[in-house]
Amino acid sequence: MKRYQNFVAGQLVDALSGESETIASPASEQAIATVPKAGAADVDRAVEAADRAFAGWSDQTPGARAAALLKLADRVESHGDELAALESANVGKPMWLAKSEIPFIVDNLRYFAGAARCLEGKAAGEYLGGYTSMIRREPVGVVASIAPWNYPLMMAAWKIGPALAAGNTVVLKPAEQTPLTSLRLAELAADIFPPGVFNVITGHGEPAGAALVRHPKVGMVSLTGDVGTGKIIAKSASDSLKRVHLELGGKAPVVVFDDADLEILAAVIKAASFANSGQDCTAACRVYGGPKIYDKLVDVLSGVVGSVTTGDLADDGTFIGPLVSGEQRERVAGFVERAKASKHAKVLRGGNAIAGKGYWYQPTLVADAAHGDEIVKREVFGPVITVSRFRSDEEAIAFANDVDYGLAASVWTSNVGRAMKAAKALRFGTVWINDHLPLVSEMPHGGFKQSGYGKDMSMYALEDYTVVK
Ligand code: NAD
Repeated sequence: MKRYQNFVAGQLVDALSGESETIASPASEQAIATVPKAGAADVDRAVEAADRAFAGWSDQTPGARAAALLKLADRVESHGDELAALESANVGKPMWLAKSEIPFIVDNLRYFAGAARCLEGKAAGEYLGGYTSMIRREPVGVVASIAPWNYPLMMAAWKIGPALAAGNTVVLKPAEQTPLTSLRLAELAADIFPPGVFNVITGHGEPAGAALVRHPKVGMVSLTGDVGTGKIIAKSASDSLKRVHLELGGKAPVVVFDDADLEILAAVIKAASFANSGQDCTAACRVYGGPKIYDKLVDVLSGVVGSVTTGDLADDGTFIGPLVSGEQRERVAGFVERAKASKHAKVLRGGNAIAGKGYWYQPTLVADAAHGDEIVKREVFGPVITVSRFRSDEEAIAFANDVDYGLAASVWTSNVGRAMKAAKALRFGTVWINDHLPLVSEMPHGGFKQSGYGKDMSMYALEDYTVVK
């Protein structure tokens, strides 16, 4: 069993308290590694290192920063199978899924390496007679990157890519449940960045995450996580007026109009709803069907959900793994139990935990859910989808928008005008038409409403990690 260390100022180090904790596989509950348990003193050590490194790193040319990020991308690519195996063991992802994430992570780092060289101020000129004015985009300083447990390595890449490209230095804190690939990434990056430019410390939200947010030398906090955590962080960051970048939860509606092609939908929805066991902030979890298509849609969804397999994570035939923790499984089961207790909603597939070791839960379809039901309006973050009926286009859009979240949505129709009208009316950061889930490094990802503010990926993310001078 490997003993991991934090990475601070270019060195692998234990927590200053000497404390460590065990990481167990969500699939078997067996211990797989030990990691340091960072506290406020570790945060201070890492932030001081990042602060010392800032002047040198921000002074490097964009070309030099790009070269370092390209090296990191190559390193991730050449260690792809190893990183995928570690992610699979720590998060409980099937190996095929963990492996499929690697090329996207590599592409994202390469995108930001290129983007580093294209960052520009928008104007320079003699706007005031007798004066030349220019606009510069400068790095913020030390960025605290706080990541969730569902895509640990991908979220690390999404955060460190734009932050480092723009000339900031970073202290990354992965989620306490899933720190292994971030710690391994730090080992792999050890000879790439000058000491202190990229630091990784593991620890819990309290005290490690909270101490990062409070630290006076942190200039910006970037969180991907729960809406509640985002609110706590935004409040705490306001004490020192730190910049905050928040990618929070989602509850993606899937609006299926009567003229939708259900064959296309059936081909897409399995991965869109269930990949990563539904622990995905853009998961297609809230399906709404038009009056004429509803019954057929329910049949199609029932077939899809029936085809979602669980099993050995190494087996390519296994579609989903367990949930990340016992706590997460209880949360998911709670939503389903409360839905079962309603008079109208029907569990057509699944609806129970799977007995034995690990945090497994059956792929679940809840039909005839009412739009106001808790399971329809709150993020479940598990292998559970609901399907509800709407009566008109207006009602479909109203239902879809009537949640606190605004991250992603999809519209299904064969009428271009209807698709465009719906895409405009939906208050979500991303709207797909006759598809759900594809992302690409050039396009921004981020929410409206309580899904947060700030973008990941794209030039917008790079700009988010800069200040205009
Ligand atoms: P979480 O909010 O519990 O934890 C996220 C991170 O915040 C962890 O590293 C945790 O240690 C840290 N944290 C917790 N409390 C903190 C505090 N008081 N101060 C500082 N840091 C603190 O979220 P999670 O359960 O790990 O992840 C699931 C959530 O993430 C879901 O809501 C999901 O929708 C969201 N998510 C969003 C996106 C997106 O792009 N919008 C992507 C992935 C996940």
